[in-house]
Amino acid sequence: MSHVVIPQRSVAIIGGGMSGTLAAIRLIRQARTPLLIRIFDPNPELGRGVAYGTADFSHRLNGPAKAFSLRPENPNHFADWLQVRANRSGWNDFDDKLLAFAPRWLYGDYIREELAEALNAAACGVELEHILARVDDIVQEQGRVRLRVDVQREFIADHVLLAPGVFKAQPGFAIAQSLLDDGRYLPDPWNPDALDKLKSVADVLLVGSSLTMIDAVVSLEARGYQGNYHVVSRRGLVPVGRNEAQAWPEFLTDVVAPVSVRSVLRAVRTQIDKANAAGEDWQRVVLAVRPHLSRLWHGASLAERQRFMRHVRAYWDMFLHRVPPPSANVFEAVRASGRLFLHTGTPTAVHGAGDGRLDVSVRLRGKSATTILRSDALINCTGFEYVWKRVNGQPLLARLLERGYVRPSELGLGIDADPQTLAVIGVDGNASEHISTMGLPLRGVLFESGTIAELLRQAVLLAPLLDAAGQYVVEEERDAA
Ligand SMILES: Cc1cc2nc3c(=O)[nH]c(=O)nc-3n(C[C@H](O)[C@H](O)[C@H](O)COP(=O)(O)OP(=O)(O)OC[C@H]3O[C@@H](n4cnc5c(N)ncnc54)[C@H](O)[C@@H]3O)c2cc1C
Repeated sequence: MSHVVIPQRSVAIIGGGMSGTLAAIRLIRQARTPLLIRIFDPNPELGRGVAYGTADFSHRLNGPAKAFSLRPENPNHFADWLQVRANRSGWNDFDDKLLAFAPRWLYGDYIREELAEALNAAACGVELEHILARVDDIVQEQGRVRLRVDVQREFIADHVLLAPGVFKAQPGFAIAQSLLDDGRYLPDPWNPDALDKLKSVADVLLVGSSLTMIDAVVSLEARGYQGNYHVVSRRGLVPVGRNEAQAWPEFLTDVVAPVSVRSVLRAVRTQIDKANAAGEDWQRVVLAVRPHLSRLWHGASLAERQRFMRHVRAYWDMFLHRVPPPSANVFEAVRASGRLFLHTGTPTAVHGAGDGRLDVSVRLRGKSATTILRSDALINCTGFEYVWKRVNGQPLLARLLERGYVRPSELGLGIDADPQTLAVIGVDGNASEHISTMGLPLRGVLFESGTIAELLRQAVLLAPLLDAAGQYVVEEERDAA
């Protein structure tokens, strides 16, 4: 007589931001046999990561609540949650719940409640453990994976999901060591205590002009800051405020592989001209591009993708990742007041000035001599680093590359993976049976890899692979003689 012994299989998720947490929710809901899910993250609150860890309620989601449901079968799920929550928490800055631009912190709460709810309904033997630690190395052995955490501890898993998210880029300018621990230099633009100390200074310099810069400006305004902002950015672009608009009628269905950047741009420009001529909002045209992005990306050659990254990406990021209206209103008011100065150029060095302020050397575009901008503080709002070998202070990434378990994507951004299964591809060119990834490491493979819709899609793709981890052992059972 034989019977099936079902041991508890185990999945290790490295990174408990939104990606790792969504994968866990999906797995918990789907698992019907014993499964131990361990999420490794030193961050004490699963689900928040970088984006939803800011407790400043002026940092909003960049889209309306109707676009943020974590239950695809119920698109209003988040808006309904928000309504109930608003009644309880007192945050009710909306007339129509579907169009609310919620604080990112509340969205983190929502993700966490979804996790708790999934756990409450979990099948027998399906468990979640949060290991409050960073994973520094993993080793594959005998069909399983050993994870090294801290100096002493090790864990074993049948399958590992890499969801380490985003890593801050190096500043790109020289800064005196003595300034690194000085309240005048803010490497973390979301640090509330550091921002508190700036509220009565006269001049703040922000390096980078993306959505992170907007976060810093709205935070300072909320604190009553009345001084000037000097924003230094390479291209001098600032993100645009989001208008609620319907997507423009389809115009890209005829653009098929092999896709060229030039042909897409030409089509987009033609439609924007038409929209402008008709007095319509040009943002409608950008919205019509989005559903095609993945298809266009996969239909383009490596050379065309490289061309896109070199010449178009910065504009695409600015136009697509738009500023939520509450933040856009604050930012526009600051600009209208004449307190914001946009400098197109590259900061090269930061020194302490004699009067206790900072001298920031900037190479302004079109000028040969270096310009010195004097300010009371510098906030580093530069973006994220997607090239793993350039990321500092993250031993796991270096180990994974050294061991050949992963290799950079063709574009060099993030790592290579099978876009259908999200299994990582190692230096041998084979898709791993034991390591998968999701979220920002897929920047090179999928390009738009971190939006809510995309992360939900990836969690669904991953679930069968993760759930299949480990083997059901069929054992022979002998009747006692
Ligand atoms: C500031 C910001 C605002 C955003 N706003 C929006 C928005 O409004 N709307 C929208 O659709 N998208 C937004 N996004 C996109 C966002 O990237 C995704 O929505 C999502 O939050 C990405 O989550 P993640 O888990 O992949 O990464 P992260 O949030 O970076 O989380 C990764 C986690 O992994 C952990 N980790 C890393 N390495 C290790 C290790 N070796 N061991 C253990 N743990 C590790 C980190 O501690 C971290 O908690 C925003 C992104 C940012 C950065």
